[in-house]
Amino acid sequence: MTNLILFGPPGSGKGTQAVKLAESFHLLHISTGDLFRSELKNETPLGMEAKKYIDKGELVPDEVTIGMLSNKLDEHEGKVDGFIFDGFPRTQPQAEALDKLLELKGTTISLVLALEVPEDEIVQRIKERGKTSGRADDLDDSIIRNRFQVYLKETAQVLDHYKKADKVIVLNGVGSIEDISQALVVAISKAK
Ligand code: AMP
Repeated sequence: MTNLILFGPPGSGKGTQAVKLAESFHLLHISTGDLFRSELKNETPLGMEAKKYIDKGELVPDEVTIGMLSNKLDEHEGKVDGFIFDGFPRTQPQAEALDKLLELKGTTISLVLALEVPEDEIVQRIKERGKTSGRADDLDDSIIRNRFQVYLKETAQVLDHYKKADKVIVLNGVGSIEDISQALVVAISKAK
């Protein structure tokens, strides 16, 4: 199996690139943000719980997020060539839980692709996206800034977990969608 993590701050292009990579490498794209938004749309108890955090730009508690992710992995067990994780893991406990879940399935993370984008560019991009995304958390300046701060405080260091295992490739996330996509494909193909 090929299991990839697309890592980077909110608005770094993870979702856009994950969709393309999933197609190129026949992987299942799992975005925890998309999963929460789908629960929210269906007004499930999980969606209602997640909304409290999403609306503030805070992280949904680990046990909730890990439980949802674990269900998703079970649903697709044996049916796909691998997974591409987008927006997960975002904390050290999530990274450790993912290691365990994959180990139970006899597999592991192959590679972590980290997209680097500076804060000002992030804020601009998310605001632009907010015009069409229908996401309340993409419209408010202070929520956007908080999401970036949460990334720096709680998520950025998750990369060290994978650096220790020599699984990280850092790429420049500023440029055209096509150029970045190409750079990702080259990096993955080289590592295979
Ligand atoms: P995203 O679509 O990845 O930007 O996620 C939108 C929001 O969903 C985040 O600001 C969090 O509130 C929540 N969320 C998504 N993924 C996670 C995660 N792995 N852990 C905790 N909260 C998450």
